[in-house]
Amino acid sequence: MNRIIEREKDCYCETCDKYFHHLGIARHRAMHRDRKENCVISYSDYSTVLHKFKKGAEDEK
Ligand SMILES: [Zn+2]
Repeated sequence: MNRIIEREKDCYCETCDKYFHHLGIARHRAMHRDRKENCVISYSDYSTVLHKFKKGAEDEK
Protein backbone atom coordinates (compact mmCIF):
# COMPACT_ATOMS: atom_id res chain seq x y z
CA MET A 1 0.00 0.00 0.00
CA ASN A 2 2.60 2.50 -1.07
CA ARG A 3 -0.09 4.96 -1.99
CA ILE A 4 -0.98 5.54 1.65
CA ILE A 5 2.64 6.12 2.57
CA GLU A 6 3.07 8.60 -0.23
CA ARG A 7 -0.01 10.46 0.85
CA GLU A 8 1.21 10.72 4.43
CA LYS A 9 4.68 11.76 3.36
CA ASP A 10 3.46 14.78 1.51
CA CYS A 11 6.45 17.08 1.92
CA TYR A 12 9.70 16.76 0.03
CA CYS A 13 13.16 18.13 0.71
CA GLU A 14 14.82 18.70 -2.64
CA THR A 15 18.14 19.33 -0.91
CA CYS A 16 18.16 15.83 0.60
CA ASP A 17 15.98 14.13 -2.05
CA LYS A 18 13.77 12.74 0.72
CA TYR A 19 10.08 12.72 1.49
CA PHE A 20 8.72 13.72 4.89
CA HIS A 21 5.46 13.69 6.74
CA HIS A 22 4.01 17.18 6.99
CA LEU A 23 4.43 16.97 10.76
CA GLY A 24 8.08 15.98 10.38
CA ILE A 25 9.14 18.57 7.85
CA ALA A 26 9.38 21.34 10.45
CA ARG A 27 11.88 19.29 12.43
CA HIS A 28 13.79 18.51 9.26
CA ARG A 29 13.84 22.18 8.33
CA ALA A 30 15.16 23.00 11.80
CA MET A 31 17.94 20.50 11.20
CA HIS A 32 19.03 22.45 8.14
CA ARG A 33 18.77 25.67 10.12
CA ASP A 34 20.97 24.25 12.85
CA ARG A 35 23.51 23.22 10.23
CA LYS A 36 23.19 26.65 8.59
CA GLU A 37 22.35 25.04 5.27
CA ASN A 38 20.05 26.38 2.63
CA CYS A 39 17.29 23.96 1.76
CA VAL A 40 14.52 23.72 -0.80
CA ILE A 41 11.33 22.16 0.50
CA SER A 42 8.14 21.36 -1.35
CA TYR A 43 5.10 21.43 0.91
CA SER A 44 1.85 19.55 0.76
CA ASP A 45 0.11 22.47 -0.95
CA TYR A 46 2.66 22.14 -3.82
CA SER A 47 4.42 25.34 -2.88
CA THR A 48 8.20 25.16 -3.04
CA VAL A 49 10.18 27.32 -0.67
CA LEU A 50 13.87 28.10 -0.56
CA HIS A 51 14.89 28.53 3.07
CA LYS A 52 18.07 30.53 3.39
CA PHE A 53 19.76 29.51 6.61
CA LYS A 54 23.27 29.89 5.32
CA LYS A 55 25.17 32.80 6.75
CA GLY A 56 25.80 35.49 4.19
CA ALA A 57 23.26 33.98 1.84
CA GLU A 58 21.77 37.39 1.19
CA ASP A 59 24.34 37.98 -1.51
CA GLU A 60 23.36 34.86 -3.42
CA LYS A 61 20.91 35.05 -6.24
ZN1 LIG B 1 16.69 18.26 3.78
